[in-house]
Amino acid sequence: MNIVELARLLEAQIVGNIDAVNLETYGVSIDSRSLQHGTKTIFFALTGNNHNGHDFIPMLVEQGVRLFVVHKLPLLKYENVCFLVVSDSLRALQHFASYRRDLFTYPLIGITGSKGKTIVKEWLNFLLGSEYTIIKSPKSYNSQTGVALSLFGIQKQHDLGIFEAGISTVKEMDFLESMLRPTISVLTSIGDDHQEGFSDIEQKIDEKLLLFKNVNVGIVPYDEMILSRLKFVPRLVSWSFQNDSATVQFKYKKDGILEVLCDGIRFDVSVPFNDEASLQNMASCICTMLILNYSAEQIQTRIPNLYGIELRLQVKNGQNNCIVIDDSYNADFQSLKIALDFLEKHHKGGLKTVILSNVFQSGFGEEELYGKVKELLVANQITKFIGIGPAVSKYKEIFKGDTLYPNLDSFLQKFSVSDYHDETILIKGARSFRFDKIVNLLEEKTHETILEVDMDSIRHNLNFYRSKLNTETKVMVMVKAFGYGNGSVEVAKLLSHEKVDYLGVAFADEGIALRKAGIKIPIIVMNPEISAFPAMLAYELEPEIFSFKVLNAFLKLAREHNEHLYPIHLKIDTGMHRLGFFNSELLKVVEILKHTNVLEVKSVFSHLSSSDMPEYRDFTLSQIKIFKEACEVVKQGLNTNPIRHILNTSGIFNYTEHQMDMVRVGIGLYGVGNDEVENNQLLNVGTLKTIILQIRELDEGESVGYGRRFRTVKRTRIATIPIGYADGIHRSWGNGIGEVYINGEFASIVGSICMDMLMVDVTDVVCEEGDLVEIFGKHVSVSAIAAGTGTIPYEIMTSISQRVKRVFFES
Ligand SMILES: *Cc1c(COP(=O)(O)O)cnc(C)c1O
Repeated sequence: MNIVELARLLEAQIVGNIDAVNLETYGVSIDSRSLQHGTKTIFFALTGNNHNGHDFIPMLVEQGVRLFVVHKLPLLKYENVCFLVVSDSLRALQHFASYRRDLFTYPLIGITGSKGKTIVKEWLNFLLGSEYTIIKSPKSYNSQTGVALSLFGIQKQHDLGIFEAGISTVKEMDFLESMLRPTISVLTSIGDDHQEGFSDIEQKIDEKLLLFKNVNVGIVPYDEMILSRLKFVPRLVSWSFQNDSATVQFKYKKDGILEVLCDGIRFDVSVPFNDEASLQNMASCICTMLILNYSAEQIQTRIPNLYGIELRLQVKNGQNNCIVIDDSYNADFQSLKIALDFLEKHHKGGLKTVILSNVFQSGFGEEELYGKVKELLVANQITKFIGIGPAVSKYKEIFKGDTLYPNLDSFLQKFSVSDYHDETILIKGARSFRFDKIVNLLEEKTHETILEVDMDSIRHNLNFYRSKLNTETKVMVMVKAFGYGNGSVEVAKLLSHEKVDYLGVAFADEGIALRKAGIKIPIIVMNPEISAFPAMLAYELEPEIFSFKVLNAFLKLAREHNEHLYPIHLKIDTGMHRLGFFNSELLKVVEILKHTNVLEVKSVFSHLSSSDMPEYRDFTLSQIKIFKEACEVVKQGLNTNPIRHILNTSGIFNYTEHQMDMVRVGIGLYGVGNDEVENNQLLNVGTLKTIILQIRELDEGESVGYGRRFRTVKRTRIATIPIGYADGIHRSWGNGIGEVYINGEFASIVGSICMDMLMVDVTDVVCEEGDLVEIFGKHVSVSAIAAGTGTIPYEIMTSISQRVKRVFFES
């Protein structure tokens, strides 16, 4: 296809230089941060709630991108760049994707449902993989853009597609359906999650069933309402664990045996999981196999080998100061690209290393495939590559200068931990390669207690607050106190990736640590100490100026360093009475700054004392009023237009209309809002967990712990857990007040909390030594602990000791 043909396909108007591009080897991107095809990218500028792809065009042109699909032309003229102007660039992207899909006629399985989409997709891929060359969507790429991007991976050599379709509101499925054109559609389940975008469950079902519009075969859980709506489907297969009318009936007998009854034939399958969700997902898979004419024997031999799917890439602390990214479950070509992006995001300087198994399902010939793998490695500036597997190790010519092993054993024989230092290591292999063994060797051995930080939740929470704001309002995120206990460097990396405008820290040291880790976005230091000023200039940290003493000292030093317009931030005391200038002092501040261009007042700000307390609404409004007056004085006096900001997390929620030019999000990002309504829209970020160290049975009348503060009144099972007040668990959480969560039950903390341990009553909890214990997380909230110990969530979060290892999760 040439440009003119592409333009015709997308119904686009061509503006600019056609000769700048030769379409032959182009790839598609919508994310300015990840250009897997480098300069050979067609960039679709999409607009979302919180971002606008058009903003990145100048940067991308600078990086050498030449072809853009836009719905708004930039004002600036560019030479040697071609724009395809369309009315809606998302629809153009989708149209392009469906064009690609239509080039191929092989069957395509579309999967939708409230739960289990990704698992069913991955399991089908495993179950059908010996017979078919499958193209599947990577990870859970199931959105309006995810499906489109997945479809660009389709190649001639594939002969079966398996794709997910996920929706969150009405009018979405039609677009997904018209791109995917599934021939077989699978509905995994109908649950009540993701209900917000729909008026009721029927509306949600109707929307999901649009995926069945053009299919030959539909596979659904047995349900009258669903079946009546799908009467038009030529071949409809329903399954059920209860209803005799279903096409395929399942019965879980016991001890891992599942009975299948279909067309009067009965056979048993042994299943590796027996929880309800897994059984339902297996039912969808078995029905699909039956439809594709697999025999009972094939089903019986393959289902027992199904495995748990780890959907997320895990970031772990490695030995010798390495970072280990564990992706030892999956090695298809599409997900390699995603993993390399992920590596870039988590890279903090030092070498970039990739350990990779054979790659599957690319749809390319083998040699072409490894050529493409090498191109990706070069484009991502991977410094060290180790290929393990019979196929990858054949291509010595392609991987010149890299290390290749025919199998894991030969790698392990040569392995020495001391060969890895200060590296970010991506370990990516298909599950059968057992790369989890490599992860084990490189991972730092941690003490059993960890704080697991869910980066996806942080992103969700950030977007939640962004969705409350006007698009032009800037966002500063407070990452002080070690990112409220969650790990400042990691959180800051994510935030700079998400393009927040500012970071806030309390002390210069915290800012310096971020700079050393490669964080480039502006950082404000809230409590700058005069002794730290030289280091702040050296690391481009911007001070909060709250007094004449600080102002004069900083001005003097900046002048000595010949600074020009160095950014500072004026803090106004509007009633908090912590730090800041009173309005009455501002004319004098203006007087000092008016005659110099050494410093620039980048922003003016103040802090609310009670934005979470409705009873002080009048006071808060008076703070805001005083602040606005202060801003005017500075603006007039200096004839500038500084960024104005006053709202913290609860301020954003309760005083949205006073967001002004920027807001400062803190605790909300980490998952704690100031009331139930707000909390329900946030996701939990931190999970503090450990294991049971020992369990003992005590007779009636025994005592537990220091000071004998707990006495048994009956035979009691006591579990000892290796976490105590030195880890940051308040001692006042003991003696029957607090509870921990074990295997779906709550267990009360008995006796006094010790320095490194505490004891809980597990008489009514089914558990054994080594079982996981949640101290806080999804089931025990930080807010509940705060309420029980008479403090606030901020204190609980920031008290977790640095000896507790942080482990970061991200999809
Ligand atoms: C900590 C802090 C914030 C953030 O407050 P949250 O209640 O956590 O959102 C905002 N502004 C200033 C000046 C702060 O010190």
